[in-house]
Formats: sequence, structure tokens, C-alpha cells
Amino acid sequence: MAKDVTAEDLVAVLAQHERFVLVSHLRPDGDAIGSMLGLGLMLEAMGKEVVYLNEDGVPGNLAFLDAGQRVRRSREVKVLDCDVFIALDTANQERLGDTALARKPEKALGVTIDHHITNERYGDLVWVDDQAPATAQMVWELAKAGGWEIPAEARTALYVGASTDTGSFQYANTTARTHEMAADLLAAGLDVAEVNRLTYHNFPYRRVQLLTSLLATLQRSDDGRLAWWSLTLAMKKEAGYQPGDSEGLVDVMRGIDEVVACVFFEEISDGTIRVSMRSKDASVNVSEVCGSFGGGGHILAAGARLEGPLEEARQRVLAELGRAAA
Ligand code: AMP
Ligand code: MN
Ligand code: MN
Repeated sequence: MAKDVTAEDLVAVLAQHERFVLVSHLRPDGDAIGSMLGLGLMLEAMGKEVVYLNEDGVPGNLAFLDAGQRVRRSREVKVLDCDVFIALDTANQERLGDTALARKPEKALGVTIDHHITNERYGDLVWVDDQAPATAQMVWELAKAGGWEIPAEARTALYVGASTDTGSFQYANTTARTHEMAADLLAAGLDVAEVNRLTYHNFPYRRVQLLTSLLATLQRSDDGRLAWWSLTLAMKKEAGYQPGDSEGLVDVMRGIDEVVACVFFEEISDGTIRVSMRSKDASVNVSEVCGSFGGGGHILAAGARLEGPLEEARQRVLAELGRAAA
């Protein structure tokens, strides 16, 4: 049975153990990798042993966070022994990926640290704060509650986690506490210009080519309140697409004045369709819309996976979003 715990409870529990495995969701974003490395590097600074796992590994756009190449693909790791298995930034076990999930030793204590409103409270000890803008901010709260040292690499990881999940401190989920965290990390020596250069101004040219082809597929509802575009397998092939290339591009649609909600449809090689949805108005709850297709996330940012083909998935999703935004 999962037990809800606080940051203070977790600080005490983590202090009592020595060997940790940290895991985050497949197709990881800045918060998945940032919160995992942030926590792990602090545990390592305390002399603990940490293994970092991700089903898909670190995408190219986030490689700078893991200069030491600590994060391993779960399929490359055979047997694991640990006392504590911590899932970060992941709403349900399925999103950890089958292989990562299978790496949990049965006797290990399962801990969940997450901020998704749709978190399914799996594991033994669960700390979910759906008001937190990023799991990285929750990890920073742990550091503060425990009086932990935050090594330089962990500072970068936590800053990037919070920055990417708040759209560079722009979205409604950004709080005074988020800025306190940023101030704390900057005061400790974080190089804000360099970290932001690496996060936002360091993309390969093919990302711009990808954007060009996406813009050619841009469509809007008659009233202009909904916008969507689609990435097919053929477009990916043409652009030489690599994981992470499209991260954040959805903000181009989000930036249109009339747009209230927007959708990024992406054809995956297994024939399923990945949906990435954003809203600018809390009354249009995209977590609910994605939830009706088995996905989830947050009120203003959510995702789901549907069966193909693309055109059918697009019609189903837009019909549901249209109802939510009516
Ligand atoms: P994305 O559109 O991939 O950037 O995801 C937006 C938010 O929704 C993130 O917090 C994701 O973790 C979450 N999310 C995306 N896809 C899913 C899914 N299939 N199930 C649950 N949550 C998801
Ligand atoms: Mn995430
Ligand atoms: Mn997150």
C-alpha cells in the first residue's frame, strides 16, 4: 500500500539507506533528467551509491546536463541491487517503461516523487505535490529540508528542470518559491547565461528545418482558438530527426494571440500517435482531455498516446478538445 509522505519524512528515510536507483519517465524532458540528476548528485555528495536509469536514455538536447554520462538506458543494465528505487517526474509506472520497471528489485523500497495532477500513487512512499511547477523544485525542497549541499552539477540540473517545465519561468505554475529556488541556485554560483545558452540557444540546424516543415502543416479551427500541427515519419526521416529535436516547438503555436489550446501530433515508428497538448486557460483542462485517451499530465500541459493512423487520431483528439474548449 502506498503511503503519503512529506519532504521531511523523505529526508529521514533517504539518510537511512546507502544504495539508490533513480528512474524517470520515457522520452525524458528537462525535468525528468534534471530532477533525477539533481537528487542523485546530492545523494552521491553524501557518499551514497546511485545508479541513474532511463528507458530512452538522455536525448541530445539534454546531453549537456549529463556530461559524466551517468544516466544509463535501462536495457543496458541487467541486474540491479539497491535499497531504494526512486521514480521521479512520472505519473504512473507504465511511463517508466517496461524495462526500467523490471529493474526494480522486489525488496527495494519504492519511492515516488512527482508533481503530476494525474499521479497514480504507486510505490511504497509517495510524495506528490501537484502545485509544484516541476519535480526539480520538489527535489530542491528536499535539499532545503535536509540542509543538503547542492553540488554545481546538481544546481544546473535542478535549474534546468524548473526552467523547462515553467517555459522559462513564464507559465502560470511559476511561483514565488520557484524564483526563490532560482535565486538560491544563482547565489550559490550557477552561471545563468551559460545554462540558458545550453538549454535554449544550442540547437542543431535540423531543428529549424523541422520547424519549417511543421509550420507547413499548421491548421487552426474556424474561430482560431485551436491550433495543431503534425509530424509524420516521412518528415522525421527527411529532417534526420533525433529524440529531443521537437522539444518546446509547440510554444510557437501557443504564442499565437487567439490560440487557447494547441496540439502537436507525432507519428511514432511503432504506428502509435503521440499527442502533446497545451492550454493557456485553466478552464480548458488538457490533462482531462488527454486523460480520456489514457494519458494525463497537468491542466495546462499534457500528453497521450493513441492508436494510428494519424488522421483518425487527429479527428478523435480534436473532437474531444473542441468540446473542452467550447
Ligand atoms: P509533453 O507534451 O510530452 O511535453 O508532456 C506534457 C506533460 O504531460 C508532461 O508533464 C508529461 O509528463 C505529461 N505527459 C505526456 N504524455 C503523457 C502520458 N501519455 N501519460 C501521462 N502524462 C503524460
Ligand atoms: Mn517530465
Ligand atoms: Mn515535470
